[in-house]
Amino acid sequence: MTKSVLIIGAGLGGLFTGAILAKEGLKVTVLEKNSSIGGGLQSFCRFNEVFDTGMHIVCGMQPNGNIRRICRYLGIEDKIKIRQNNSDCCDVLYFEEDHQRYSIATGKEGFIRSLSNYFPDEKENLEEYVKAIFNISNKVDLFNLRPSEGYVGMDFFQSTDDFLMPADGFIAKYIKNPKLRSIVAYTNTLYGGRAGVTPAYIHAIISSSYINGISRFENSSGDFAKLLANVITDNGGEIYTNEKAACILTEGRNITGVKTDNDNLYQSDIYISDIHPCSLIKITDSQALPKSYRSRLECIPNSYSAFSLYIKLKNSAFEYLDYCEYFMTDYSKVWDFGKVSDQWPLGFMFMTPPRTGQGRYAATALVTAPMPFDTVRQWEKTISGHRGHDYETFKHIQTVNILKQLDKFHPGFQGCIENVLSSTPLTIRDYYGVVDGALFGFSKDCNNIMLSQVPVATKLSNLFLTGQNVSLHGFCGVPLTAVMTSEAVLGNNYIINKLRNEQ
Ligand SMILES: Cc1cc2nc3c(=O)[nH]c(=O)nc-3n(C[C@H](O)[C@H](O)[C@H](O)COP(=O)(O)OP(=O)(O)OC[C@H]3O[C@@H](n4cnc5c(N)ncnc54)[C@H](O)[C@@H]3O)c2cc1C
Repeated sequence: MTKSVLIIGAGLGGLFTGAILAKEGLKVTVLEKNSSIGGGLQSFCRFNEVFDTGMHIVCGMQPNGNIRRICRYLGIEDKIKIRQNNSDCCDVLYFEEDHQRYSIATGKEGFIRSLSNYFPDEKENLEEYVKAIFNISNKVDLFNLRPSEGYVGMDFFQSTDDFLMPADGFIAKYIKNPKLRSIVAYTNTLYGGRAGVTPAYIHAIISSSYINGISRFENSSGDFAKLLANVITDNGGEIYTNEKAACILTEGRNITGVKTDNDNLYQSDIYISDIHPCSLIKITDSQALPKSYRSRLECIPNSYSAFSLYIKLKNSAFEYLDYCEYFMTDYSKVWDFGKVSDQWPLGFMFMTPPRTGQGRYAATALVTAPMPFDTVRQWEKTISGHRGHDYETFKHIQTVNILKQLDKFHPGFQGCIENVLSSTPLTIRDYYGVVDGALFGFSKDCNNIMLSQVPVATKLSNLFLTGQNVSLHGFCGVPLTAVMTSEAVLGNNYIINKLRNEQ
């Protein structure tokens, strides 16, 4: 008989897991609390423009890239609308401290060449550094879609010495020039890096994915969510929006059903959660999960959050940029994005998202500025639309701060703005249902690596986890976790072997 699966959360992880399982013949039902699907892939319409909320840069989509291969297996590869950043200049970094601008090219050679232009004495060190990050990422079976033992995809005990070093220490081991150390650390904003804490393997996976090439969705990341949803529904699955899982019903160590806040009951053979594990335990019968399991999850720190700007530009006012920009203040502060600072913003990412048939001028621009949740904690008990005057003033001040900084490397930028909207860590918390608005879910700690390793299997026999809190985050991580979760249902290496045969 066909097994049924109920997935809580139609985010990146829930949709990828649902698509894989539906394609493999399981009867998939997905519940989403919001009115639209996608989680981090969600986009919204304002000022007659579409804005993406949590998926601005995508990796793994280069020819034969790991995520592209999963999309090929799902049959959606040719329908995805993405645009690669300029390979000669995929990212630009600007440091306010010395007004220096660094342009970074794609590919191992491009990366080394572009940075050696600014630091010729470091060419050999850059070569060794690039070799080291690819050595680390090559060790991770899951990242390379290689068969592995169990459902972990990485073996911490057979890894290289570099693997579990702190990322900042790892960089310093290879790069001597302090400025160049800070430059290559810029990717830490894409994994919520903390000095002395974040393991080098996270830095290596994100940085090597970046070096392999980055892309951006054309028009809307929501279109990609729809492609994944179509795989589910075309294979007989169902997706319900405005259905918030409110209570997980259990009997012994087994889930018997999920009640939503509309009082609907959903039952299936297998349950998969794509929501933050700490949100999940809050809605699960307290007797069902051992106290030790709950408290272990509750003591894992979360990554920091962000303040974002969604900008509608005036017609033909600001030229489209085929790369992303990272504004940084001081070289010495590149690891401080998670700290509350009077000097906020310490840095941010800026881009003009591409449209199909993109012309000379950009229609919209986006800013994502890391911000710790503590900055907005005083409003944590408020709800959207009713947070009060102080909160609106806070948002206005931060918006002005960012726009002032933007004017420094794009003089006259403010004059190009038609409308601007901002969101805070509270928006992220409430929109995605993520604890403390964490950008990338649980934070990894090289000093206690097992703490942040959340297994796919849980203490409940028919409940599995997927999404960014298990294993890896973001576009280059969550689809891989989805493969791992699916294999917990279908059998070890079941999907990986299919992907290998399809190459
Ligand atoms: C501002 C921002 C910018 C980002 N930029 C990038 C980027 O450029 N590139 C990148 O790779 N990553 C980026 N990320 C990270 C990326 O968005 C996440 O890693 C990814 O979306 C996580 O996927 P997920 O499936 O774990 O969670 P989500 O995509 O958040 O999905 C969880 C889903 O569960 C739903 N849900 C929650 N509670 C319930 C409930 N009780 N019942 C039913 N449904 C529920 C939520 O509404 C959501 O749809 C960004 C994140 C943010 C916040």
